[in-house]
Amino acid sequence: MSTYIRTAQTGFQMPVLIYPAGALAPTISQATMEHHYGKHLQTYVDNLNKNVTNTEFEGMSLREIIENAPPGPLLNNAGQVLNHSLYFEQFTPYPPGSNRPGSNLKNFIRFDFGNFDTFKKKMEEAAAALFGSGWVWLAQEESGKLNIVSCSNGDTPLRYRMTPLYGIDVWEHAYYLDYQNRRAEHVHKLWDIVDWEMVESRLNI
Ligand code: MN
Repeated sequence: MSTYIRTAQTGFQMPVLIYPAGALAPTISQATMEHHYGKHLQTYVDNLNKNVTNTEFEGMSLREIIENAPPGPLLNNAGQVLNHSLYFEQFTPYPPGSNRPGSNLKNFIRFDFGNFDTFKKKMEEAAAALFGSGWVWLAQEESGKLNIVSCSNGDTPLRYRMTPLYGIDVWEHAYYLDYQNRRAEHVHKLWDIVDWEMVESRLNI
Protein backbone atom coordinates (compact mmCIF):
# COMPACT_ATOMS: atom_id res chain seq x y z
CA MET A 1 0.00 0.00 0.00
CA SER A 2 2.90 2.28 0.64
CA THR A 3 3.60 2.27 -3.08
CA TYR A 4 0.02 3.11 -3.93
CA ILE A 5 -0.12 6.50 -5.61
CA ARG A 6 -3.18 8.68 -5.60
CA THR A 7 -3.80 12.36 -6.21
CA ALA A 8 -6.95 14.41 -5.79
CA GLN A 9 -6.69 15.64 -9.36
CA THR A 10 -6.48 12.33 -11.12
CA GLY A 11 -8.09 9.84 -8.77
CA PHE A 12 -6.60 6.43 -8.07
CA GLN A 13 -3.79 5.40 -10.41
CA MET A 14 -2.48 2.04 -11.58
CA PRO A 15 0.32 0.78 -9.31
CA VAL A 16 3.65 0.56 -11.13
CA LEU A 17 4.66 -2.91 -12.31
CA ILE A 18 8.15 -3.32 -10.88
CA TYR A 19 9.36 -5.89 -13.45
CA PRO A 20 8.75 -6.46 -17.19
CA ALA A 21 5.45 -8.22 -18.00
CA GLY A 22 7.23 -11.38 -19.21
CA ALA A 23 9.75 -11.55 -16.37
CA LEU A 24 7.85 -14.05 -14.19
CA ALA A 25 7.49 -16.64 -16.99
CA PRO A 26 7.02 -19.56 -17.01
CA THR A 27 5.37 -19.34 -13.58
CA ILE A 28 3.19 -16.47 -14.81
CA SER A 29 3.33 -15.92 -18.58
CA GLN A 30 3.56 -12.56 -20.29
CA ALA A 31 0.08 -13.11 -21.77
CA THR A 32 -1.42 -13.67 -18.32
CA MET A 33 0.38 -10.63 -16.96
CA GLU A 34 -0.82 -8.44 -19.83
CA HIS A 35 -4.41 -9.48 -19.24
CA HIS A 36 -4.31 -9.60 -15.46
CA TYR A 37 -2.35 -6.42 -14.76
CA GLY A 38 -3.08 -4.54 -17.97
CA LYS A 39 -6.78 -5.26 -18.36
CA HIS A 40 -8.35 -6.65 -15.18
CA LEU A 41 -6.57 -4.34 -12.75
CA GLN A 42 -7.09 -1.36 -15.06
CA THR A 43 -10.82 -2.09 -15.01
CA TYR A 44 -10.87 -2.26 -11.20
CA VAL A 45 -9.03 1.08 -11.00
CA ASP A 46 -11.42 2.68 -13.50
CA ASN A 47 -14.48 1.33 -11.69
CA LEU A 48 -13.11 2.43 -8.32
CA ASN A 49 -12.73 5.98 -9.63
CA LYS A 50 -16.18 5.88 -11.22
CA ASN A 51 -17.88 4.59 -8.07
CA VAL A 52 -16.13 6.92 -5.63
CA THR A 53 -16.83 10.14 -7.56
CA ASN A 54 -19.38 12.40 -5.90
CA THR A 55 -19.77 10.17 -2.86
CA GLU A 56 -18.89 10.78 0.79
CA PHE A 57 -15.86 8.52 0.20
CA GLU A 58 -14.24 10.75 -2.41
CA GLY A 59 -10.91 11.98 -1.05
CA MET A 60 -10.50 9.06 1.34
CA SER A 61 -7.50 6.73 1.16
CA LEU A 62 -7.91 3.22 -0.20
CA ARG A 63 -7.69 1.87 3.34
CA GLU A 64 -10.38 4.24 4.62
CA ILE A 65 -12.72 3.28 1.79
CA ILE A 66 -12.22 -0.43 2.47
CA GLU A 67 -12.75 0.00 6.19
CA ASN A 68 -15.88 2.14 5.84
CA ALA A 69 -17.72 1.52 2.57
CA PRO A 70 -20.86 -0.62 2.66
CA PRO A 71 -20.95 -3.82 0.58
CA GLY A 72 -21.38 -2.97 -3.10
CA PRO A 73 -19.47 -1.91 -6.23
CA LEU A 74 -17.30 0.72 -4.50
CA LEU A 75 -16.10 -1.72 -1.84
CA ASN A 76 -15.64 -4.54 -4.38
CA ASN A 77 -13.44 -2.43 -6.65
CA ALA A 78 -11.50 -0.83 -3.80
CA GLY A 79 -10.79 -4.30 -2.40
CA GLN A 80 -9.63 -5.57 -5.77
CA VAL A 81 -7.34 -2.56 -6.32
CA LEU A 82 -5.74 -3.17 -2.94
CA ASN A 83 -5.50 -6.94 -3.42
CA HIS A 84 -3.92 -6.64 -6.86
CA SER A 85 -1.53 -3.83 -5.87
CA LEU A 86 -0.14 -6.08 -3.13
CA TYR A 87 -0.23 -9.15 -5.40
CA PHE A 88 1.86 -7.82 -8.28
CA GLU A 89 4.36 -6.25 -5.89
CA GLN A 90 5.00 -9.51 -3.97
CA PHE A 91 6.72 -11.39 -6.81
CA THR A 92 10.26 -11.16 -8.15
CA PRO A 93 11.94 -12.46 -11.32
CA TYR A 94 15.14 -12.83 -9.30
CA PRO A 95 14.41 -14.99 -6.25
CA PRO A 96 17.49 -16.13 -4.36
CA GLY A 97 18.53 -19.79 -4.76
CA SER A 98 16.96 -20.86 -1.50
CA ASN A 99 13.83 -18.75 -1.61
CA ARG A 100 12.61 -18.64 1.99
CA PRO A 101 11.40 -16.00 4.46
CA GLY A 102 13.93 -13.97 6.42
CA SER A 103 14.42 -14.45 10.13
CA ASN A 104 11.61 -12.22 11.44
CA LEU A 105 8.91 -13.73 9.26
CA LYS A 106 10.40 -17.19 9.69
CA ASN A 107 10.00 -16.89 13.45
CA PHE A 108 6.37 -15.78 13.15
CA ILE A 109 5.65 -18.69 10.79
CA ARG A 110 7.33 -21.17 13.14
CA PHE A 111 5.36 -19.87 16.09
CA ASP A 112 1.96 -19.94 14.38
CA PHE A 113 2.28 -22.88 11.94
CA GLY A 114 5.15 -25.01 13.27
CA ASN A 115 7.38 -24.74 10.22
CA PHE A 116 7.59 -23.30 6.70
CA ASP A 117 6.50 -26.48 4.89
CA THR A 118 3.41 -26.88 7.07
CA PHE A 119 2.51 -23.25 6.41
CA LYS A 120 2.87 -23.73 2.65
CA LYS A 121 0.74 -26.87 2.75
CA LYS A 122 -2.02 -25.11 4.69
CA MET A 123 -2.00 -22.19 2.29
CA GLU A 124 -2.22 -24.52 -0.72
CA GLU A 125 -5.08 -26.45 0.91
CA ALA A 126 -6.99 -23.23 1.55
CA ALA A 127 -6.48 -22.14 -2.07
CA ALA A 128 -7.76 -25.49 -3.34
CA ALA A 129 -10.77 -25.40 -1.01
CA LEU A 130 -11.94 -21.87 -1.83
CA PHE A 131 -15.12 -22.32 -3.88
CA GLY A 132 -15.41 -19.93 -6.83
CA SER A 133 -13.45 -16.69 -7.08
CA GLY A 134 -11.47 -15.06 -4.32
CA TRP A 135 -8.20 -14.79 -2.46
CA VAL A 136 -6.25 -16.70 0.14
CA TRP A 137 -4.08 -14.48 2.30
CA LEU A 138 -1.38 -14.95 4.84
CA ALA A 139 -2.49 -12.15 7.15
CA GLN A 140 -1.53 -10.77 10.53
CA GLU A 141 -4.05 -10.10 13.27
CA GLU A 142 -3.74 -7.02 15.50
CA SER A 143 -2.40 -9.30 18.24
CA GLY A 144 0.53 -10.15 15.96
CA LYS A 145 -0.65 -13.68 15.23
CA LEU A 146 -0.46 -14.93 11.65
CA ASN A 147 -3.46 -16.57 10.06
CA ILE A 148 -4.54 -17.95 6.69
CA VAL A 149 -7.66 -16.11 5.59
CA SER A 150 -9.96 -17.09 2.71
CA CYS A 151 -11.76 -14.15 1.10
CA SER A 152 -14.55 -14.37 -1.49
CA ASN A 153 -14.40 -12.27 -4.65
CA GLY A 154 -12.87 -8.86 -3.84
CA ASP A 155 -12.90 -9.19 -0.06
CA THR A 156 -9.67 -8.45 1.80
CA PRO A 157 -8.19 -9.05 5.29
CA LEU A 158 -8.13 -5.27 5.88
CA ARG A 159 -11.89 -5.47 6.25
CA TYR A 160 -11.31 -7.63 9.35
CA ARG A 161 -8.58 -5.42 10.86
CA MET A 162 -5.88 -7.79 9.64
CA THR A 163 -2.76 -6.88 7.65
CA PRO A 164 -2.44 -8.73 4.33
CA LEU A 165 1.07 -10.17 3.88
CA TYR A 166 1.05 -12.66 0.97
CA GLY A 167 -1.98 -13.22 -1.25
CA ILE A 168 -2.94 -15.88 -3.76
CA ASP A 169 -5.45 -14.80 -6.39
CA VAL A 170 -7.65 -17.80 -7.19
CA TRP A 171 -9.85 -16.03 -9.72
CA GLU A 172 -9.54 -18.01 -12.96
CA HIS A 173 -8.17 -14.91 -14.75
CA ALA A 174 -5.00 -15.30 -12.66
CA TYR A 175 -4.08 -18.73 -14.05
CA TYR A 176 -6.39 -20.08 -16.73
CA LEU A 177 -4.30 -19.10 -19.78
CA ASP A 178 -1.26 -20.90 -18.33
CA TYR A 179 -2.69 -23.72 -16.20
CA GLN A 180 -6.31 -24.10 -17.41
CA ASN A 181 -8.19 -25.82 -14.55
CA ARG A 182 -5.02 -26.78 -12.64
CA ARG A 183 -5.33 -24.24 -9.84
CA ALA A 184 -3.35 -26.34 -7.37
CA GLU A 185 -0.35 -26.58 -9.73
CA HIS A 186 -0.38 -22.82 -10.28
CA VAL A 187 -0.55 -22.09 -6.55
CA HIS A 188 2.32 -24.50 -5.87
CA LYS A 189 4.55 -22.93 -8.54
CA LEU A 190 4.04 -19.43 -7.17
CA TRP A 191 6.38 -20.26 -4.27
CA ASP A 192 9.26 -20.06 -6.80
CA ILE A 193 8.75 -16.32 -7.39
CA VAL A 194 7.68 -14.94 -4.00
CA ASP A 195 9.66 -11.88 -2.95
CA TRP A 196 9.96 -12.74 0.75
CA GLU A 197 11.71 -9.47 1.53
CA MET A 198 8.64 -7.62 0.26
CA VAL A 199 6.28 -9.89 2.19
CA GLU A 200 8.31 -9.53 5.37
CA SER A 201 8.31 -5.74 5.01
CA ARG A 202 4.53 -5.81 5.49
CA LEU A 203 4.83 -7.52 8.86
CA ASN A 204 4.05 -5.55 12.02
CA ILE A 205 6.84 -6.40 14.45
MN1 MN B 1 -6.94 -10.98 -10.21
